[in-house]
Amino acid sequence: MEVTDAETIPVSSTLPEGEAMGDARGFGRTRETTLLRIETDEGTVGWGEAFAPGRIAEATFDELFREDVVGMDPFEVESLAERSYTDPYHFGGDVFVQSVLSAVDVACWDVIGKTVGRPVHKLLGGETCHTLTPYASTMYFTERDRPIAEPIEEAVEAGFEAAKIKIGAGVESDVERVRTAREILGDDAALMVDINGNYRPEQAVKTAKAIAEYDITWIEEPVPPENETGYREVKRRIDTPIAAGEAHYGRFEFKRLVDDRTVDIVQPNLGRCGGLSEARRIADMATTENVAVRPHIWNSAVGMAAAVQFAASISTYPHTRNVPEPMMVEFDRSDNPLRSDLLETPFDPSGGVLDVPQGPGLGIEVDDDALERYRADG
Ligand SMILES: [Mg+2]
Repeated sequence: MEVTDAETIPVSSTLPEGEAMGDARGFGRTRETTLLRIETDEGTVGWGEAFAPGRIAEATFDELFREDVVGMDPFEVESLAERSYTDPYHFGGDVFVQSVLSAVDVACWDVIGKTVGRPVHKLLGGETCHTLTPYASTMYFTERDRPIAEPIEEAVEAGFEAAKIKIGAGVESDVERVRTAREILGDDAALMVDINGNYRPEQAVKTAKAIAEYDITWIEEPVPPENETGYREVKRRIDTPIAAGEAHYGRFEFKRLVDDRTVDIVQPNLGRCGGLSEARRIADMATTENVAVRPHIWNSAVGMAAAVQFAASISTYPHTRNVPEPMMVEFDRSDNPLRSDLLETPFDPSGGVLDVPQGPGLGIEVDDDALERYRADG
């Protein structure tokens, strides 16, 4: 079997004027990402996503990948990562190279699954789960002034029993947001907070201590992702678990996070970390050191499908029996048709449960009409 055709497809969606949203670092109206569609000589189609702007992903694919990918056997997917570090030797560690590699890798796994008639999570091995616990990613910072309670109330009404909210705009605002979210969610729900690296270590510690009484499951990116000494300082001074990884990619960066015990939870993004093959290596490393793995999902439905398949295969060791720990996956609650409209059967988190697609490969069907609608190069 060999890949005979490969196409990068930029997709984007823009919110109406005045509806920009985001995190403590800032917000925007446009969501964009790049899908990759490969086809084999047997007519099997595989999908992947590069968490990268369209023209950059296309140029990176055409310059550095196309020659190797067209003609390759998708079953040789594991060789891609090594190849990306050796040829081109000097660019392999680049984030856009790793993002495009992620797309190729996931598309190959999709083809492999479709060829052998198994969902990807089965191919990744391990004791797999059929359902995951979606957590609402919500309470974004918004351009439009709206009551902070509104989005978290909507998430609870939609059945979510766990949520992650944006904070990072000063300790007083942080406490108000966390108190509001906890009141609405109730005492038993998991509540995470995301600073998006908007604090210096001192500020992060101050906020962490001020919100500790609200039982926070994790604090995400308390300081900028590049600041490893800052992470270690925050870790030393607070008791709440720390999560990071959405801005990291490749096994080497994650190895540092895990080895140094910089974080308690790693969050690889399947459109950026190097794909399913690399995510599995990262999960093996993390699990060996009892660091938890929870994929970051800020992608289109294709990247989400890869993350869901991956999450369904991750070990929760050492929490095997007596400390039940749900495998939580991020469910972005923003108005994003790239997540909600791209698939024939969209992901449905209602009732606080997300079914893992059991069809072969990623278990998804891309809706061609929707794809045309959101193509950014059409
Ligand atoms: Mg985040």
